Amino acid sequence: MFMAKKSLVNCPICGKQNAFFDDPIGPFCSARCKMVDLGGWLGEEYRISEPLQPQHFEEFAELSGDNLDQPEHG
Ligand SMILES: [Zn+2]
Repeated sequence: MFMAKKSLVNCPICGKQNAFFDDPIGPFCSARCKMVDLGGWLGEEYRISEPLQPQHFEEFAELSGDNLDQPEHG
């Protein structure tokens, strides 16, 4: 009977078949593959964000008063 057959989907990460509706992790065959997919688009986010540059600290320059620039003397 076809009705008894489980709905299988291919894992988008490794292509391994798994029962979609049996698993709360969706189309992924394992939590690991889910993390791989998650890490994939997280990587995109990291790539968009630029590294810290000196000019990023310019707005903080106004915060430092004269006393902050003086070396500490006992
Ligand atoms: Zn997989």
